[in-house]
Parts: sequence; C-alpha cells; structure tokens
Amino acid sequence: MEHASSISAARSLVAGWRKEGQSIGFVPTMGALHEGHLSLVRRAKAECGRAIASVFVNPTQFGPTEDLTKYPRDLEGDARKLASAGCDGLFTTSPEEMYPQGFVTWVTVEKVTAGLCGASRPTHFRGVTTVCSKLFHIVQPDKVYMGEKDYQQVTVLRAMVRDLNMTLEIVPCAIVREKDGLAMSSRNMYLDASERQRALALSRGLEKARAAYAKGERTAKRLEAIAAEEILGVDARLDYANVVDGDTLEPLARADDRSVLAVAAFVGKTRLIDNHVLGRAFPAR
Ligand code: AMP
Repeated sequence: MEHASSISAARSLVAGWRKEGQSIGFVPTMGALHEGHLSLVRRAKAECGRAIASVFVNPTQFGPTEDLTKYPRDLEGDARKLASAGCDGLFTTSPEEMYPQGFVTWVTVEKVTAGLCGASRPTHFRGVTTVCSKLFHIVQPDKVYMGEKDYQQVTVLRAMVRDLNMTLEIVPCAIVREKDGLAMSSRNMYLDASERQRALALSRGLEKARAAYAKGERTAKRLEAIAAEEILGVDARLDYANVVDGDTLEPLARADDRSVLAVAAFVGKTRLIDNHVLGRAFPAR
C-alpha cells in the first residue's frame, strides 16, 4: 500500500492510477479503524480498480466541548489494517495543511442538517461537508463508500454531491455490528466495562422497535418510545429517538418501510448513535 502524507502526494498517487485507466474508490475516515471501516475498503476494492482511504481527524466537525483532543489515534495500526484489507493507498494530512491561515470557505447543506445530530451539534455538518468537499477535490474518486451507521451524514453528503454537480457517487454501506449488536464505532473505545454493557440499550431499543413495527405498529411516537425506554432504562442520557423519512429526514407521524428510526445517547460521557431502517430485518445474531 502506498502512503501519501500530503495533498500533493495524494494528487500524484491518484493521477498515476488514472493514467493506468483505473477507477478510484474512496473511503474517508477519522482513523482508529475497525471492521466497519474495513468493510467499506473491501467493497471499494471489489468495485473499483484502486481503493484509497484517508485518515484525518477533522477539527472543524467537532464542537468546542467535544472530544477532538482525546479522539483515538493509531496511524500505524490503521495502515496495517488497511493494507491487509487490500487498500491500495492511504492519504493523511494535517489540520495546518487542510485549514491554513486565511481559510474562509465553507460548504453548508440546509434542511437535512437541521434535525437529529444537527440539532445538538450545530456546527458538525458544516465541518463534515467542508472537509468532504476538499477530500473529494483532492482524491477525485468515482465512488465514495460511507457507512449507514452515520445515516444523516450519508444523506447530507448525497445532497451536497447532487446539488454541487460533483461527478462521483456516494455508496451507502450496511452498518457493521459487534456480535452482541453494538454498532462498531471508534468511540466505543471510550467505554468502560459497565458502559459497554449499557451501550447495548441503543441497538436493543432499535431491535425492539423494529419487532413492534414488524407486528404492525406504525405510530412513530410509539416506536420512538420503545427505543427511548430501553435507553433511559440503563441510565443513559437520551439525545433523540426519532422516526424520520429515509430520504428527507423529516419527522414522521406514521412509519413505513423506508422510515429510519435514529437514536443518539450519552452513555457516561460518550455520545453514541445508531439507527435502523424499519422495513429491513434486524441483523440476526
Ligand atoms: P469515522 O471514522 O467515524 O468518520 O467513519 C468513517 C466512515 O466509516 C463513515 O462513512 C462511517 O459511516 C463508516 N463507519 C463507521 N462505523 C461503521 C460501522 N459500524 N459500520 C459501517 N460503517 C461504519
């Protein structure tokens, strides 16, 4: 695997592949990689000539009281995992290179950023859309592989790509879970043993709501209450449990097969998110 540790190195790495006629699949990440990330890399490699991942802890998507400085970093481990997943390239850069003195340009997406995580993290998506615009311009991929774990993020970036006529496709990929149901996340590393147990309330709540949906429950408030009750039952601080339209992310009164039940909660100090498309079976364990 090639490692490009600057913007210019990444540009020339990708230009070389383009000259060979290869298509490019891109997986942007913040590192501390786990099987969820690697599933995206494997799919990129299966569907494109070359797969490249970026590892960049993007400061502009963290709020002032969030975990930027303690966000887990393990570049050596990440490089090893990427190489063994068949990744062809790794792009890393620094906050100084991405946001030099005099940086004044932001990309903002409206409406789909208003609810869910956007409501409690008001500057988060502006950071995500800006860094992804930059990464997409640098790497110029054909396809970008993103996890449905961050359902709102995928929706926001699809809107950005569509509205700004970017010539790439966002490919949403299924959530990878631990055996007990917990959605994989770099932030799971923050959890101590008791919090790790309590964190299961998010996926359990989604699973229970999904079971009620499968039995015919369609009232959004009742489905939300099922998930919320599970989360509140482990003494977690609920941020939201919302049934929303799978495309517009608008809140719904009645759920259908395309609706998404999305949850966010603090378990101890750690903010976790999860979601499930109600029309889909919950993954068997
Ligand atoms: P992050 O490093 O958290 O910014 O995530 C980088 C990419 O990996 C995003 O597209 C995430 O949605 C995706 N991702 C993170 N966790 C998972 C997971 N458990 N399953 C699938 N994709 C994931």
